[in-house]
Amino acid sequence: MAKTPSSRSGAPKLDPRGRKVKILATVGPASRSPEMLARLFKAGVDAFRVNMSHGEHADHADTIKAIRDLEKEYMRPIAILADLQGPKLRVGKFKDGEAVIRHSGHFTLDRDPTPGDETRVQLPHPELFGLLEKGQRLLINDGKIRLKVISADENAIKCSAEVGGVISDRKGVNVPDAEIPIPALTEKDRKDLAFAVQQGVDWIGLSFVQRPEDLAEARKLMGGRGSLCAKIEKPMAVRRLDEIIEMSDGIMVARGDLGVELEPQEVPPLQKRIVNATRLKGKPVIVATQMLESMIESPAPTRAEVSDVANAVYDGADCVMLSAETAAGDWPEEAVTIMHRIARQVEDDESYLDRVRFLDTPPDATTADALAHACMTVADTVSISAITVFTGSGSTARRVARERPSVPMLVLTPSMKTARRLGLLWGAHAVATKDIGSFEEMIAKGKRMALRHGFGQAGSKLIALAGVPFGTPGSTNLMHVVNVSGDELEKHGG
Ligand code: PEP
Repeated sequence: MAKTPSSRSGAPKLDPRGRKVKILATVGPASRSPEMLARLFKAGVDAFRVNMSHGEHADHADTIKAIRDLEKEYMRPIAILADLQGPKLRVGKFKDGEAVIRHSGHFTLDRDPTPGDETRVQLPHPELFGLLEKGQRLLINDGKIRLKVISADENAIKCSAEVGGVISDRKGVNVPDAEIPIPALTEKDRKDLAFAVQQGVDWIGLSFVQRPEDLAEARKLMGGRGSLCAKIEKPMAVRRLDEIIEMSDGIMVARGDLGVELEPQEVPPLQKRIVNATRLKGKPVIVATQMLESMIESPAPTRAEVSDVANAVYDGADCVMLSAETAAGDWPEEAVTIMHRIARQVEDDESYLDRVRFLDTPPDATTADALAHACMTVADTVSISAITVFTGSGSTARRVARERPSVPMLVLTPSMKTARRLGLLWGAHAVATKDIGSFEEMIAKGKRMALRHGFGQAGSKLIALAGVPFGTPGSTNLMHVVNVSGDELEKHGG
């Protein structure tokens, strides 16, 4: 991304991204230095994911501070998503650190904390005993080892190994066939959540959500601080998808665990279903995991990975995510650059809009939705450079994004929190700026900001979308088409 010397605010000026889909990058050892965070941001990152499954609070606090410093330097809001580990099930430890489970052999999971061997190991999750039934599956180490329950009681789960392999200390266990009576928030998650909201993160990611009630608990603990993203990675969550979307502010298609709990070939159709269902509700949806996996080690992606990212963009996702590629890979900056280029290429394709609008998004019977829909049709009919959306909570921007208009949205909000949260929303370039008090001010500010942020020039037309009385939540009732003249060019620093 080009960095030009200055704007009137004195901040180094970054060009607009030139794409509507957003990039979320996971921070880890390969990217947590302030220098690398800055490089990733300049290469195209709109939002950073802090993975609470790894690292200490002190490291996360340093990362969050570095991101906020970057935000100040570039005067551009950046979303931070703290991803909670959730109730990840794990086996206990082994005498030699590992053991081999034979193909077609027997293996038992029990309550005995004595280190395990090739016949047995502890499963330190009492909830699973007496719950699992004959024929149900236990998948270990990302599904590499596949066990089937032969018999289960209060003390032991005896299994046959459909696929054996090497099992080592604390390997993860997936139990796709049962709803497990454990809360979505562990003791660690509660501590991590308290830390994250105290640090002012914008989004909390909730892992292994099984039911809508799981979200209610997290939301209560958040107390209105931040937005809540449910990660869809359990078949149980897929069954109650609509209710879970209703209870969330955003959704992540967490394809890693989803592809373990389900058959991998079930994931692509589900990805499309989850993207559509979330978008219909006007909430951002992230497609995550293994998008450019080979770039952990290689400076260039495979053709299949490029297609995967491109297809997620064609599916109409709001956001695409990098995981180990930026957290622990050798080529974090290159991965962001490639993802940015793929998204731009897709969005430049003349069939892109038709493809994302394949989903019918009928407006709700509200003035805000009728105007959001009108913005889309006006921008399709006359040449418009951007839709300037004046919003407090971000809700109007979400309703416009749901329509997937042909032009970007310049979202002007008095709330820095809202501006940051919009970092995951398709098409939104958010700017935190003083509120407006009159129609004239709205027009003048819309033009000024569009020029300053690269969303128009002399002769451009803008759509302004706002609510009167100004500053009243839920009042969106005004749409105006504005001509930008040469005069504003003189004044646009103001
Ligand atoms: C996933 O499973 O796809 C995912 C995003 O979760 P995590 O990276 O936290 O395991």
